[in-house]
Amino acid sequence: MRIQSVAVAALGAIALSACTEQGADTAPPALEPITAAQVDGEAIGAADQRPGVWLSHGRTYSEQRFSPLEQVNASNISQLGLTWTEELDTMRGMESTPIVVDGVMYVTSAWSVVYALDARTGERLWKFDPEVNKARGVYACCDVVNRGVAIWNGKLFVGTIDGRLIALDAASGAPVWETVTVDQSRPYTITGAPRVVKGKVLIGNGGAELGVRGYVTAYDAETGEQAWRFFTTPNADKQPDGAASDAVFAELANETWDDEGAWRDTGGGGTAWDAMAYDPELDILYIGVGNGTPWNRRLRSPSGGDNLFLSSILALKPDTGEYVWHYQTTPGETWDYTATQHIILADLEIDGATRKVAMQAPKNGFFYVLDRATGELLSGDMYQPVTWASGIDTATGRPIETTNARYDAEPQLTYPGPLGSHNWHPMAFSPDTGLVYIPAHTLPAIYADDETFTYRPGFWNTGTSSLPGALPGDRDERMQVVKDLNISGQLVAWDPVAKAPRWTVDYPSPWNGGVLATAGNLVFQGGIDAKFRAYNAETGDTVWESSAMYPALSGPVSYELDGEQYIAVTAGWGTVLPLLGDFGIPATGLQERGMVLVFKLGGTAEIEEYEAFPMENVPAGDQFGSEQVIARGKEVYYANCMVCHGEAVVSGGVIQDLRWAQAPGSKEDFAEVVLNGRYESAGMVSFADVMTEDDAEAVRAYILQRAHEDADPQ
Ligand code: CA
Repeated sequence: MRIQSVAVAALGAIALSACTEQGADTAPPALEPITAAQVDGEAIGAADQRPGVWLSHGRTYSEQRFSPLEQVNASNISQLGLTWTEELDTMRGMESTPIVVDGVMYVTSAWSVVYALDARTGERLWKFDPEVNKARGVYACCDVVNRGVAIWNGKLFVGTIDGRLIALDAASGAPVWETVTVDQSRPYTITGAPRVVKGKVLIGNGGAELGVRGYVTAYDAETGEQAWRFFTTPNADKQPDGAASDAVFAELANETWDDEGAWRDTGGGGTAWDAMAYDPELDILYIGVGNGTPWNRRLRSPSGGDNLFLSSILALKPDTGEYVWHYQTTPGETWDYTATQHIILADLEIDGATRKVAMQAPKNGFFYVLDRATGELLSGDMYQPVTWASGIDTATGRPIETTNARYDAEPQLTYPGPLGSHNWHPMAFSPDTGLVYIPAHTLPAIYADDETFTYRPGFWNTGTSSLPGALPGDRDERMQVVKDLNISGQLVAWDPVAKAPRWTVDYPSPWNGGVLATAGNLVFQGGIDAKFRAYNAETGDTVWESSAMYPALSGPVSYELDGEQYIAVTAGWGTVLPLLGDFGIPATGLQERGMVLVFKLGGTAEIEEYEAFPMENVPAGDQFGSEQVIARGKEVYYANCMVCHGEAVVSGGVIQDLRWAQAPGSKEDFAEVVLNGRYESAGMVSFADVMTEDDAEAVRAYILQRAHEDADPQ
């Protein structure tokens, strides 16, 4: 074993240099299989010589999500079938990308639970439940999801929804070390997958809808000891933190923030909750940074300013966290336009020269190609309908904002809305086609200033009002709005050199799944319609489709064992759009289950069907309350309840539909839940800090009014 390790290391070094040569025709030599204990930077760097494994979140440090496996291709894909499924013990959303090595799949589910499964059969080898405090679920803006583990030197690393980073023994699932990465008195969460670079585990966090200060931290993979931290916003006094970010804040970032403003209370946001990539040759780590808290810059930083490093790609040195460069996609962001979306590194031929680029399709609707050594903007072009800016000035690298793009004076209907033109769903890049496959959607929103804003610690603090954009209660009217606004989904095959789409697949509904590209000239994607599909990577023609029972929204992966290629994806209900309610998304009508679905040629497994629950649409109580009371109830509902219980009190099926719940039937029961936290252990905490008894009773009146409007005729 030791001799093999040395040989692998030597070949890995050769592989790294070979990989960087553009246009090398000869495929690098295949390497011996490895075990979980042998995964390190050289192994991840040499991923193309072990196409049978999936060692890092985006498969490689470049995060291309391209599998060199080609056994499954257009000529035989009709034989692709389900070979095994495994239910994960959750009723909440699935966003996990599996890691696969040595015949074992490591996958996470909601509430940060980790599973090891036999990658051939799905047999459960072990399960690790970090037993998070479920009351913290209310801090998760976008469901209590988890996007996966990282692996390094025999250990797995998982970030938990309550802000811990835990190292597990990959063989047994036993904890090795654990560290709390956040101030747990603040509404931080972790949903993102860690990455490991040069023996350091990198992890960010979320919480910028509520009010936190973003940062990314590096921990020693063996001991859990903190190596460095880089903050993405200044502290309230703009003083040094003793962190890697101090120098650049003193030099250029502090001055981009007003000395006053709500950011000083909220922490300013800028959470790094998803994207990372690494270039071993340049030795640069890339981090995507999120939106501000509050979203509304008028409140956050009243005199204006770019507010660095919100909505930016940050380039850092992985050993120290030292700043290298940044590119801010949305200066002075005010729309929840995160730049946490997937970052892909590739070498492209642009104007006759090979350029080492970093590419991103952030929420704001523009596709960016940056020189990843310097941060220079090479191009920035709309990949979806955009109304807040007319283009990117390539001379300055700044967007050209349209008149009234900001909603300081009056509400604005804007494309895209806070869910972006592209969200967390991973994209993919095929070096064979040169295309980036973007799981995009068209989801506008009406932004409105919240003139009565006051900071509410631990609750939503966007500084915007959802009321002017509230969807109608009547379903037909609601669906007409969805149609009029062209709320829909698109898979965009973007040519980053031509700066235009090569082809587009249109979906009737938004929020479709992450993407995998393969050397079999295929692109795999799950739909919100619970279908899992393959497209011809060159043309976009649909070449295969299978029922997935549930929406398979996560990033699919591919691996090979015993000469057979597998395609795997996780599926379930939940994640943010279904929380927001009914956007015409086809309901599955089934009990929700988190699932792992694995396909191979000749697979004949089937998904066990569940009986649909019969749903009786009967309100739990009579209507009451004056028009003013119901209007107040709606206002309080949209400020506090809508993000989980849905537009117009219509649940998307993840969280209890309050129209048909029992608690609104009685003042006492409702107050027990809403003000006294009866269901805190299930994530429904007390809202007594932000709601009076009269507010709660007004919300109950509004819920019952909506229930009676939608009740089945008796
Ligand atoms: Ca956000």
